[in-house]
Amino acid sequence: MEFLKTFTPELTIVSPGRINLIGEHTDYNMGYVLPTAIEKKIIFKLRKNGSDSVCHVYSETYDTGFDLNLNAIARSEVEWENYILGVLNEISVRTNKVRGFDCVLQSDLPTGSGLSSSAALECGLAFGLNELFDLGLSQLEIVQLAQTAEHTYVGTQCGIMDQFASVMSKSGHVILLDCESLEYDYIPIDLHPYKIILLNTKVSHNLASSAYNTRKRECEEGVAIIRRKHPKVKSLRNVTEEMLNASRPEMDATVFDRCSFIVAENKRVLQMANALRKKDLLWAGQLLYAAHHGISKLYEVSCPESDFLVEFSKDNPNVLGARQTGGGFGGCTLNIVHEDEVDAFIATASIAYKKEFDIALEAFEVKPSGGTLVA
Ligand code: ADP
Ligand code: MG
Repeated sequence: MEFLKTFTPELTIVSPGRINLIGEHTDYNMGYVLPTAIEKKIIFKLRKNGSDSVCHVYSETYDTGFDLNLNAIARSEVEWENYILGVLNEISVRTNKVRGFDCVLQSDLPTGSGLSSSAALECGLAFGLNELFDLGLSQLEIVQLAQTAEHTYVGTQCGIMDQFASVMSKSGHVILLDCESLEYDYIPIDLHPYKIILLNTKVSHNLASSAYNTRKRECEEGVAIIRRKHPKVKSLRNVTEEMLNASRPEMDATVFDRCSFIVAENKRVLQMANALRKKDLLWAGQLLYAAHHGISKLYEVSCPESDFLVEFSKDNPNVLGARQTGGGFGGCTLNIVHEDEVDAFIATASIAYKKEFDIALEAFEVKPSGGTLVA
């Protein structure tokens, strides 16, 4: 792209990916989640280009870019452009202070691996433009406009967790976020002598695919049935096991399974927060295995590759727990592994995975890290 020849950034933004320790698919059901940002990130290099409305965006990751006009923002046929365009559209609803800019993206965050490169992309851009043009947006406004951009331009009816974690995280902590009230608490996470090891199945999900939105609809269907007996219930967040069981006869079996996963998963998030507070790592590990069972058998958003890696980890006494992290259908499994066992675990898992699926496993440690910042 022409602008790259003379590009010198005036602002650099670091926008992290995230893991979610536990609480999967609970965010859009108005429940609890327990995420944190990680060190892997998208870096945004930005400058004003003096134009009123012409912008240039280039992704080093994809070695491709596009030009856009702020006065004619519309959805694109190219998927990744919609994350950018959606954010610009949402910002334009709130302020008209954005002018022409140039933006270069660099990333060491695997895309489509359940580490929320999508939220890193949306929030990093919003955060950067907020700084560059002094838009006066609060962190929470950035989080919310990024989420809405994903709904309207990308078409994924995501909850708020990914954007919240990318922007609001604090090093050495996970965020216990109540997705209904948006109240949150930073919980210190000290797993010593264990580490968080991610195994990337390299199976790339596509959250924009219908599965994610279908799960959301199934949960809403469950809520509608429960409301016949309990009119005050707004979401699965307000539903107990007893209430769910009482409505079971009226419910499709699949809808029941989806709802029972969410009800149990919300409980597990609160239990995990307690396990971390007490530093009960055995309990924390058991909660991860229980969560994965639900993800795989009840919510049915796992895949053979993730199931294989989680099962594999169970044979190793130095792994306390594991589950698929992220929206599902692949991406990464999150494993709590004793520090002395990390190398051996990765080596044996890689061999077994290669043998089973003929895919080279990618493995790395993640540390709970801080949210979006100016570098
Ligand atoms: P996840 O959020 O788990 O990584 P998603 O499917 O939600 O998976 O988002 C991945 C999408 O985000 C990619 O397919 C691409 O459209 C966009 N994306 C992420 N990182 C980049 C990047 N560095 N450059 C351009 N687009 C990116
Ligand atoms: Mg995503």
